[in-house]
Amino acid sequence: MKKRTALAAELSWTEFEEKMKEHDLIIIPIGMLESHGTHNPLGVDTIIAEYLANKIAERAGALASPVFPYGYGPEGRRFPGQVSLDPQLLRKIWYAYGASYARHGGRRFMFINGHGGNSGILRMTASDLWRDYGVLCSISEWWVLVPQIAKELDCADHGGLYETSCVLAIRPDLVAMDQARPPVPDAYLSRDIHSGHAVTYKDLPVFAAVDDYSMGRAGNLGNPPEKASAELGKKVLEVYIDYHAGLAGEMRKVELQKDKP
Ligand SMILES: [Zn+2]
Repeated sequence: MKKRTALAAELSWTEFEEKMKEHDLIIIPIGMLESHGTHNPLGVDTIIAEYLANKIAERAGALASPVFPYGYGPEGRRFPGQVSLDPQLLRKIWYAYGASYARHGGRRFMFINGHGGNSGILRMTASDLWRDYGVLCSISEWWVLVPQIAKELDCADHGGLYETSCVLAIRPDLVAMDQARPPVPDAYLSRDIHSGHAVTYKDLPVFAAVDDYSMGRAGNLGNPPEKASAELGKKVLEVYIDYHAGLAGEMRKVELQKDKP
């Protein structure tokens, strides 16, 4: 007897066809391969995005697409093992993902983005898919969303307390906590421009593409990772999953035109 599954890759094409009639939302996780400190695996962003997408799909009765394991992130290019793809190429690939699903009934996509460098490209991709196929796309990032729901969870780090905790909750076998090091201290690029996990001017976030000096020797930044725990990770993941299970239900209620707008 075949088990019930929320994963597109485990369905036959006929099951996929049926599923799209029942719930035309597809959850698409997007990751990255890059340094996250000497204690974390390179695939942190991919592992977290895939886990979130699969859990939301289960909870919402929707389908999760296989995770896309690469993204864009020139800041960490000096670290071995990093793969950063050209942003124009990524826009085309993600568009093709969506277009393929749209051809056979996918009308709503929920992009679960695991890596900050992908954000701008994903937003352009979503606009392209709306323009050409009339599909509704949502995009979100756990480290941006979670602190807005639960203020005490200040997820602004890279391979730090929160991201490491998420990996500990999902794949504890891949984290070497004895290798966890504090990040190099944040710096001021000028008197009022501060560079830490994000760049700020007079304490307000502004986007500035700078070489991520602060990834330092170990490759993590933001909140120190030494006190990371699976328990904290579970809390963060659950806030995000719960919010998106609700969002998936609400996206389903949006009436979409049959033809492209
Ligand atoms: Zn990350």
